[in-house]
Amino acid sequence: MSIIDIHDKKFSLSIPETDIQESVKRVADQINQDLIDKDPLFICVLNGAFMFAGDLMKQINIPCEITFVKLSSYEGLYTTGKVKEVIGLNENIVGRNIVVVEDIVDTGVTMEKIIASLTAKGAKEIKIATFLQKPDALQRDITIDYVAMKIPNDFIVGYGLDYNGYGRNLKDIYTVVQE
Ligand code: 5GP
Ligand code: MG
Repeated sequence: MSIIDIHDKKFSLSIPETDIQESVKRVADQINQDLIDKDPLFICVLNGAFMFAGDLMKQINIPCEITFVKLSSYEGLYTTGKVKEVIGLNENIVGRNIVVVEDIVDTGVTMEKIIASLTAKGAKEIKIATFLQKPDALQRDITIDYVAMKIPNDFIVGYGLDYNGYGRNLKDIYTVVQE
């Protein structure tokens, strides 16, 4: 089905599962090459990145660890600009090569906060892997090392991303239909 309802909004299919899986594989191949001797610690940013992290990690074939942090900044369709840390990091990351695994970089506010926090905790090198990026929305000067897909500045759901809690389970990406 190409149009779905979530709460009060309609969403239409915009990125099918096959395209998603292809782009995730491409990012994984690049990471496997770049970080082969780096013993990376992947940090999956919950909730949104859980599905991307699951598919990505299945394609990673170098020695590595994965852990999780939980942040929250969105309410409904709009970012609040304030990033809350709901579950923090337990690992000692001093001297570690980190790969932050995110669902989407929108304004970049969240990623800037994550980078500052990991730097303060003593990370050696921090790479960013995001499933989606909205280049037109970026407001912060950050380098994103791996981007699976770039998308326009519209609100999307699916593949881990939600609208007020719903839609995370969808295996495709859907874009809000503007009325
Ligand atoms: P930023 O701090 O870069 O503005 O926002 C990052 C966070 O906002 C993402 O990790 C994601 O959780 C959320 N976000 C940004 N754009 C969208 C979107 O189009 N749909 C959904 N569901 N979440 C989004
Ligand atoms: Mg996120």
